[in-house]
Amino acid sequence: MNTPPAIGCLFVVSGPSGVGKTVLCNRMIERFAPALVYSISATTRAPRGAEKDGVEYFFHTEAEFKEAIAHDRLAEWALVHGHYYGTPKAFLDDNRRAGRHILLNIDVQGGMKIKAAYPEAVLVFLQPPSFAVLEERIRRRNMDAEETVRQRLENAKVEMTFQGRYDVSIVNDHLDRASDELEGIIRKRIQSLS
Ligand code: 5GP
Repeated sequence: MNTPPAIGCLFVVSGPSGVGKTVLCNRMIERFAPALVYSISATTRAPRGAEKDGVEYFFHTEAEFKEAIAHDRLAEWALVHGHYYGTPKAFLDDNRRAGRHILLNIDVQGGMKIKAAYPEAVLVFLQPPSFAVLEERIRRRNMDAEETVRQRLENAKVEMTFQGRYDVSIVNDHLDRASDELEGIIRKRIQSLS
């Protein structure tokens, strides 16, 4: 029987908007549950579509978010596309102590802050096959809002410059292939701890 690790590991997935981080993260949770848990972020952006508070995000007002910062309740936070996003600290610490590994789907600013606070975290950068493919995906997702598309493409260029500061890069050319690659990275790290 395997002895559970004393401290769980953090896995950060970052990459430009539209690259497929959320789908890939959901797949990893399906493959590794209950040993791997998803860190639900707090955000000040409004829920999209069928999103529910406490499922995709904890939806906060700006005042609530600033209070969380003031009380040091966030392991990291950043302003992304004009909204605040942050990782609740207690969730990370409680799950790590319980020996569970945690998957964080956060932007590159957050990735850098997590690496500084938790140097053993594994940082994975998800890359689009090309900028043209990314643009097409972003346009498909934001059909009516040209300004949103433009902002996300500009941000994508900046985010791509962080790639070299990540531990490993995966190209999301085919979802199944990229999923297997990420699964391999997570599995190898988990096995190295046991
Ligand atoms: P969306 O609004 O499309 O769900 O997410 C926008 C961006 O915010 C994505 O790049 C996502 O990874 C990032 N993000 C989500 N949660 C957090 C968080 O807690 N911290 C940081 N720094 N970025 C986050």
